[in-house]
Amino acid sequence: EVEARERILEQAEELGVKFVRLQFTDIFGVLKNVAIPVDQLPKALNGELMFDGSSIEGFVRIEESDMYLKPDPSTFTVFPWRPHEGTVARLICDVYNADGTPFIGCPRNTLKRVIAEAQAMGFTMNVGPEAEFFLFHTDANGRPTLETHDRGGYFDLSPVDLGEDARRDMVLTLEKMGFEIEASHHEVAPGQHEIDFKYAEALKTADNIVTFRFVVRTIAQLHGLHATFMPKPIYGIAGSGMHCNISLFRGDQNAFYDPNDELGLSEVAYYFLGGLMAHARGMTAITNPTVNSYKRLVSGFEAPIYIAWSPKNRSPLIRIPAKRGLSTRLEVRHPDPSCNPYLAIAVILKAGLDGIKKKIAPPPPVTSNIYHMSEEERKKLGIETLPTSLKEALDELEKDPVIIEALGPHIYERFMEAKRIEWEDYATRVHPWEIEHYLTKF
Ligand code: GLN
Ligand code: MG
Ligand code: MG
Ligand code: MG
Repeated sequence: EVEARERILEQAEELGVKFVRLQFTDIFGVLKNVAIPVDQLPKALNGELMFDGSSIEGFVRIEESDMYLKPDPSTFTVFPWRPHEGTVARLICDVYNADGTPFIGCPRNTLKRVIAEAQAMGFTMNVGPEAEFFLFHTDANGRPTLETHDRGGYFDLSPVDLGEDARRDMVLTLEKMGFEIEASHHEVAPGQHEIDFKYAEALKTADNIVTFRFVVRTIAQLHGLHATFMPKPIYGIAGSGMHCNISLFRGDQNAFYDPNDELGLSEVAYYFLGGLMAHARGMTAITNPTVNSYKRLVSGFEAPIYIAWSPKNRSPLIRIPAKRGLSTRLEVRHPDPSCNPYLAIAVILKAGLDGIKKKIAPPPPVTSNIYHMSEEERKKLGIETLPTSLKEALDELEKDPVIIEALGPHIYERFMEAKRIEWEDYATRVHPWEIEHYLTKF
């Protein structure tokens, strides 16, 4: 610890760092930060930096508002896009109470708690996310529009493609910040992109997702574009998901792999899968936390609707990619990039661990396209659907004590309260669709 701190101070000096941003996220996964001049860094590294927790949504009330930020030294990075007047670095922090205990409303602490539970069972979870996003033009006032740069779509080659340029810059920037980029490509919809970075241990991946979203938005802005991780910005074309490739390790062995099984999957993998399926409805409010999330989870756009798994097919909730051995993994397909990655990964892990503990066997795989089945056929196979609205998802979360336990009482209560208000606010508005369909009809 002391050594890590010393190393950061040395690095900061070497790189000419003038400001350090101390980052954390609120319970909705929104990145917050306090910038400090570099001479405050020793104090910050000792966790002595106080802030007012009452001004962060979902944190605490005024009376108990003194909170501390404890930086994680392994997260020290310089922002490569601001090289000139005074280098800026950042540190991701855990939030602590004034009495020195971890604050249970801090999503990063929450994920750490569930990770510790996995560790006690002998497991480490790796997560590889595939975050999709749209790039839109901004108008003369710099405000985002819904205009995309490449109206032609997937196979179109335009001579000057602003989007591809911006994406290349995003990849280069992320690489400078230590990301290993595995793929970056145009997605199905016009203006839609995906950048995949290498899987890592759960906490590191959650940190990476937060950094990733921040970098993508920042670089887009430098290119005069607006990047959005909103799950379904445009009706009638694909939305943006964030598939999570999950594997469980025991030491350096992939605990999901068993060469003797017909599908090459271990008992642990089947139980983990069973847990994911059993808690799918309960966890969806966390993996898909916005009103808009549920407009992505509709048929026709490669987004999941049905709670099923398959070794091949891409329509169900969980797919088992073909790779085996060390790469054996489950691809969980419902999360979208508007989620709080700490909480989403925490509930996925918790659900899987519950499956292992309770030996929850998954139903048989579904090999045919569920979208082509009749409701009756699905019923016969016992295939349930994911919640179809934020309201339904909140009702399901309320009924799932395992997911509630993963969140802890503080986050659960604040999340519910805020999201019920969000739903109410949305549901009581009169939308353009209603005007279009009813104004002249009645
Ligand atoms: N955009 C799709 C979704 O909403 C995923 C497309 C893909 O990566 N195959 O999940
Ligand atoms: Mg992909
Ligand atoms: Mg994709
Ligand atoms: Mg995928």
